[in-house]
Amino acid sequence: MEKAPNTNFIREIIDKDLETSKYAGRVHTRFPPEPNGYLHIGHAKSICLNFGIARDYKGLCNLRFDDTNPEKESEEYVNSIERDVQWLGFKWNDVPYYASDYFDKLYEYAVALIKKGKAYVCDLSADDVRKYRGTLTEPGKESPYRGRSIDENLDLFDRMRKGEFEEGSRVLRAKIDMAHPNITMRDPAIYRIKKATHHRTGDKWCIYPMYDFTHCISDSIEKITHSICTLEFENNRPLYDWVLDELGIYHPQQIEFARLNLSHTVLSKRKLLQLVEQKYVSGWDDPRMPTISGLRRRGYTPESIRDFCEKIGVSKMNSTIELVVLENSIREELNKTASRVMAVLRPIKVVIDNYPDGKEEELDAQNNPEDPGMGTRKVPFSKVIYIEKDDFREEPPKKFHRLFPGNEVRLRYAYFIKCVSVVKNASGEITEVHCTYDPATRGGDSPDGRKVKGTIHWVSAAHAVTGEVRLYETLFTKRNPEETEEGKDFLSNMNPNSVEVITTAYLEPYLRTARAESRWQFERLGYFCVDMKSPKETPIFNRIVSLKDNWRGLSSSLTVWVR
Ligand code: ATP
Ligand code: MG
Repeated sequence: MEKAPNTNFIREIIDKDLETSKYAGRVHTRFPPEPNGYLHIGHAKSICLNFGIARDYKGLCNLRFDDTNPEKESEEYVNSIERDVQWLGFKWNDVPYYASDYFDKLYEYAVALIKKGKAYVCDLSADDVRKYRGTLTEPGKESPYRGRSIDENLDLFDRMRKGEFEEGSRVLRAKIDMAHPNITMRDPAIYRIKKATHHRTGDKWCIYPMYDFTHCISDSIEKITHSICTLEFENNRPLYDWVLDELGIYHPQQIEFARLNLSHTVLSKRKLLQLVEQKYVSGWDDPRMPTISGLRRRGYTPESIRDFCEKIGVSKMNSTIELVVLENSIREELNKTASRVMAVLRPIKVVIDNYPDGKEEELDAQNNPEDPGMGTRKVPFSKVIYIEKDDFREEPPKKFHRLFPGNEVRLRYAYFIKCVSVVKNASGEITEVHCTYDPATRGGDSPDGRKVKGTIHWVSAAHAVTGEVRLYETLFTKRNPEETEEGKDFLSNMNPNSVEVITTAYLEPYLRTARAESRWQFERLGYFCVDMKSPKETPIFNRIVSLKDNWRGLSSSLTVWVR
């Protein structure tokens, strides 16, 4: 069971509207993505907000594709968006809706505005439109085409639709006020010519409605009550209201909230598309991407993403959330749910001289100390084991409590071992560490009360299975990737070391059956998820997060147990 959601200013508005019966007790939201890319964690915030409100108020939430830019949109994106919303755990009302389903109606509404004298066809070039628009401090200038008669406008708009004019030669504009203090209200374009094939309507149309015109009418047609969008659209609200009022149709309330910004990350589909197209990443679902599909492949759960969205809350203040907040939400969950196992990523061989040749034992290991109910498993032990290279030093620095000549440590769930010698190759590198073990310490406790300061993990060499392990860091080195030197763009802040691939890691045999998308804690190393695109023979383990918040330059270091 998830906790009851926190309230926020949007829920307070809804509470008030319910009290006053503003929408006859209805709550109906929508999530309106443009199918021009995969969804990212920012969209998750909007999804949790809109679908969460519908769920909690026993209302409805529509999934509506805002598909008015045919050149950039595709069926692939539509499918990915549906999959991601469902994976996050939400169900949309009825069927998915499409703005393109309303093209006929939108056209009729545009004609209605023309007939009212509230829209006109303008022949200014894009450049001139910009020049005539004015600035924040100066009013705009009226287009010379503003005075066209209704009949002429109707004729020209009809011919625009029939494809008689070139792209960019004419637009239909709302006739509002060229001196309006809000520039959005200075006769904005509401229809443009685009001779492009649409992924759903094909070549039926060569004119397409603009976002502002489409969005409010789509909300109205679907009888949305609360149309929630990000703060950038605050200036568009008067236009939203103007269109609906001029047409005299059902009028939802637009409410703006602050979008999610996440440190060390870009959250713009345009930029994410650039990373994909220019092959900085392997695809939209690359485990380093902040997309829903990337986070999923990395190993995030829907619960952890919903928990994150709940934690960050909803406000009117723009801010940047630290990536560690997202990481903590999956850490907290997996601490409770993930089975612990042992894996050695950078092995060094340890030979236990006094352990009988050919002997094997099965030792009991706890699957999750946080949850005894998760039981125990058997871990095989034998004379030759692997430990992490980092856990041994021939010449230990101060406060090094792990293995070094003469020192005794605990092998997790196994025995105390003491280093007695090392074997080196011709170039002086250590190839084997020799130890003795104390048979009386089976299970990891000494009957005589002798203490050791370090406990390390290990894998029996004869029983180990192998797998590939991928360790990730952030895609960008800067907290704000947009902060660049002059003349450079966000790509100049990419982290050249965002992934480290360990092709052969040694894993305890329990992991032989790890299924795709299963999640594990590798003791001391972090939480890992079996890549959903792993080949069957060699699993690939993506590190989701380290055990502690130590990714800033320390991502490959071990968590050290000191007891
Ligand atoms: P982007 O800026 O990534 O290109 P967008 O706003 O163009 O995103 P849409 O497909 O139009 O993408 O977004 C669908 C919905 O998701 C919109 O209601 C938008 O407000 C919301 N949304 C997009 N990005 C964020 C974000 N970073 N935080 C919260 N909501 C977001
Ligand atoms: Mg948008």
